[in-house]
Amino acid sequence: MALGESSNLRRISLLIALSLLPAGSAFATQTAPVPVRKTCETGITLKVSSGTTAQGSLLLAEISGAKTAQEFTAEWDGRTIPLWRETPSSTTLHALLGIDLEKPPGRYEWKLSWTAADGKSFTCSLPITVRTGKFPTEHLKVEKQYVQPDPEQQKRAEEDQKKMKAIYDTVTPEVLWKGKFRVPLKDVTTGGNFGRRRVLNGEARSPHAGVDFPAATGTPVYAAQAGKVVLAENLYYSGNTVVIDHGFGIYTLYAHLSEINVQQGDSVEPSAEIGKVGATGRVTGPHLHWGLTIDHARVNALQIVQRQP
Ligand SMILES: [Zn+2]
Repeated sequence: MALGESSNLRRISLLIALSLLPAGSAFATQTAPVPVRKTCETGITLKVSSGTTAQGSLLLAEISGAKTAQEFTAEWDGRTIPLWRETPSSTTLHALLGIDLEKPPGRYEWKLSWTAADGKSFTCSLPITVRTGKFPTEHLKVEKQYVQPDPEQQKRAEEDQKKMKAIYDTVTPEVLWKGKFRVPLKDVTTGGNFGRRRVLNGEARSPHAGVDFPAATGTPVYAAQAGKVVLAENLYYSGNTVVIDHGFGIYTLYAHLSEINVQQGDSVEPSAEIGKVGATGRVTGPHLHWGLTIDHARVNALQIVQRQP
């Protein structure tokens, strides 16, 4: 998708001050954000909130000098990522760059292409260095069926995965959120375990892609922001699960719920109770698992909550 413009994009300004936070444990400083910019042809300037970042982080990118009549295409991680203007007449475009928690460390480019008024095409790119996130390894004991599923359970898990991929492949070209993202539990500001490399019953498994909040079964879970419920059902590993599409490739996931209070297709407000904390699926005890995916990149969900105006 090239450029999505919608009249209510003003809301997005709430995200504009979003800045880089390190991934991994809570908010420990491991890579101080240093914004970088580059002047390109035809009066375009690219800017990103940090030129060096860690796996599992979120970066804010900006394109200034972008005339409203021009079409821009931005690429990150081999995909076209959505761009937005705060207002239809603004000459600044914005994007969020998700750094997947397993993105191999190295030097990458955020690339922009556009066509000038005379039909000439241009490209410009900004280098972004991705460092290894500092994620501890943890050893957990879970029920055997979650480490060595039988063929039927395996089939179910694969179907779940296909379903999730289809969801994340869809980029809704409009803003559905209405202000700040918040932690989905009341009076809770921090959680843990993001990015942890996991060894379950002695076998290495994929890293932990969400933030865990220990809480009692039955504790209400709220939508982190407004959006549309795109999944509300029981999945093999994540148990009772809700996924909300916030638009522009931004999705939040709520797992292991004891109860689901919404249905697929529902539009939810930020304060909507979508379910209750539980211990369904592959767990060691009751907690909320909260995930954030941006254009397929699994990033630390707490980063979208912190440092917003
Ligand atoms: Zn979890």
